Amino acid sequence: MRALVLVQPGRVELQQRADPTPGPGEVLLKVEATTLCGTDLRIISGAKTAGVRPGVVMGHEIAGRVAALGDGVTGYDVGQQATPSIVLSCNHCRTCLLGYEHLCENLRLIGYEIDGGLADYCLIPAQAVAQGNLITTRTEVKPTHLALAEPLSCCINALNQYRVHPGDVVAILGAGPIGLLHLQLAKASGAGQVIVSNRSVARREPAAALGALAVGPDELKQAVADATGGLGADVVVVCIGDTELATVALDLARPGGRVNFFAGFPKGSTAEVDVNLLHYKELVVTGGSNARRRDVQAAVRLLESGALDADAIVTHSFDLNDAVAAYDAVRDRLGVKIAVTP
Ligand SMILES: [Zn+2]
Ligand SMILES: [Zn+2]
Repeated sequence: MRALVLVQPGRVELQQRADPTPGPGEVLLKVEATTLCGTDLRIISGAKTAGVRPGVVMGHEIAGRVAALGDGVTGYDVGQQATPSIVLSCNHCRTCLLGYEHLCENLRLIGYEIDGGLADYCLIPAQAVAQGNLITTRTEVKPTHLALAEPLSCCINALNQYRVHPGDVVAILGAGPIGLLHLQLAKASGAGQVIVSNRSVARREPAAALGALAVGPDELKQAVADATGGLGADVVVVCIGDTELATVALDLARPGGRVNFFAGFPKGSTAEVDVNLLHYKELVVTGGSNARRRDVQAAVRLLESGALDADAIVTHSFDLNDAVAAYDAVRDRLGVKIAVTP
């Protein structure tokens, strides 16, 4: 099979590998689509090395179809459409026992350490199969849309913390694929108004098409003030890993408001914030990193429902043979999100 391999930090290469055969407990997926993510670029450039194994097959937003079952696997049928939760947690560390399997102390991730989806086939490890990581669809979903289950699950994990109540005014900093997913989740949760900011006019267009008020960063504060009579946003979601936005976000929130730092920041980042904003406004500040299996399940159900406009997110598609070029296109910010199909 063909596989896009991280040879070493700074170098990916399309290689030929033997077709995998599933061992006991394993499930072989025929990959139908894998969407690319900004984190992949950080892995390829070497900016992100934690939990990354050189030689790994890249790709962690994977839609496939069960091609073969290893001995002892029950509950799956060949031909079923499925997507994996990429988080392999140990289920026995203190963090797992506290209910945070996605922050497991012994975390292993598909597409980082375990071979991922930028290949013709993807082998789902026995541990993942046994733990229910492989989520099947009940109704067929377009593969390039099903691949969104992974980033969507991460957004759902964050949504479960920042919560959107009917009528809320939600401010989203960043209009990339993640910002647009948060925008759609906020709308689906009954937000009264969603305001999205982005420096790029081109990036604001899809946000506006999805029903947000899309503004430049300099217009954001006024837009939130106009929408809330000067009170501040009920929810602020930060989807850009820029530490300068820390105080901006806290400042935008209303008293008692909720702020979520969804984007990761460069390693070792620190930010100076006006801590009295936290104190006097009694803000609830949360983060977001990875997702639980239940979030992937929720994401699949949401994609099946059609309540999410996935075409607005996945705007371009490349053949697996052109996977290296596809990453160049991500770097050049082509469209919103790019899918690779074998
Ligand atoms: Zn990702
Ligand atoms: Zn654990």
